Amino acid sequence: MRKIYFDHSATTPVHPDVAEEMFRYLTDIFGNPSSIHSLGREAKKAVEEARYKVAESIGARKEEIVFTSGGTESDHLAIKGAVYANRKKGNHIITSAVEHHAVLDTCKALEKEGFELTVLPVDGYGMVSPQDAAKAIKDNTILITVMHANNEVGTIQPISEIGGIAGERGVLFHTDAVQSMGKIPVNVNDLKVDLLSVSGHKIYAPKGVGALYIRRGIRWRPFNFGGGQERKRRPGTENVPGIAALGKAIELAARDLGEENARLTFLREKLIKGILEKIDHVRLAGHPTMRLPNHVNLIFEFIEGESMLLSLDMQGVAASSGSACTSGSLSPSHVLLAMGIPHEIAHGSLRLTLGRSNTEEDVDEFINTMPPIVERLRAMSPLC
Ligand code: PLP
Repeated sequence: MRKIYFDHSATTPVHPDVAEEMFRYLTDIFGNPSSIHSLGREAKKAVEEARYKVAESIGARKEEIVFTSGGTESDHLAIKGAVYANRKKGNHIITSAVEHHAVLDTCKALEKEGFELTVLPVDGYGMVSPQDAAKAIKDNTILITVMHANNEVGTIQPISEIGGIAGERGVLFHTDAVQSMGKIPVNVNDLKVDLLSVSGHKIYAPKGVGALYIRRGIRWRPFNFGGGQERKRRPGTENVPGIAALGKAIELAARDLGEENARLTFLREKLIKGILEKIDHVRLAGHPTMRLPNHVNLIFEFIEGESMLLSLDMQGVAASSGSACTSGSLSPSHVLLAMGIPHEIAHGSLRLTLGRSNTEEDVDEFINTMPPIVERLRAMSPLC
């Protein structure tokens, strides 16, 4: 059976060039970057080269990049480091209702510690309004954290507008760029952000590696202690193979960005059009144009997302309903609910996220595979 992988927002395969790069640092050049001998120095060189590649791709300086274990840790470090360092100035944090749980739950945990939290609403497309962000800022506001692009519906947020407002009001601004990195341009100066999170496994590097950008001169402090690695901002022996892989993956993503963006946008539009034409009672979730080039979220009325996933899996198609972290739970996605989509309809969401390996043939096959599945499930559905 032909396999179609439409779940690139959950994770991506490691690119062969990235795997090759990584392998060198698992086997031959295995030294500890803190060691004085040549194996150690070579490992250190790999870490610093990767740091340069990450910094260059987002318009940052090398010293502003801290390597982490992934997107979740980058979000934690960004948010907690910023609010703990600015506690004397204020205690108010602003976020949005559609953030990934790595951000939302960190903010909620901080609320329990005594910080004040404002959660901005979104419109029907899952978009945050910069005016709402401006109105929410108070004298005691110390941090705004709003994601660059949403993992569940693909909507791209007006980050540079919010960043401009935060900057004028002297408030730190963090964005989670885990889903946007490698798919649309990400530049810390254009976006006007002070902190930005990246994850390796969404961009053809392995799982368990990520990066955090921390703008030079901002008030931020570490809260992990140990060795002096990462300029004491994230101590612990560096994941050299993972870091080298991340550097390579970001280099490849930057090289191919324009071409891949156009190719995936074409496939995305074909997929959306094909399904909407062939199947009734389906709607697109998220913004029609301000969305990631690879991202489709379709809501099929009268069906459960989980049953579609199982049927598709039997046909060799890997997809997802909601985010990978929440699938398996039966509560509908907090993102769809925040967008005002009713509970019973939100259950019928199917996320299809395309990537490097997908072709027009995959899209055509999917458009033909889906109608009989939907017909069968709807015939059995108590919701019809
Ligand atoms: N932020 C967003 C927007 C994500 O989509 C994810 C993963 O799905 C994360 C953060 C967490 O990243 P990681 O899996 O690298 O911890």
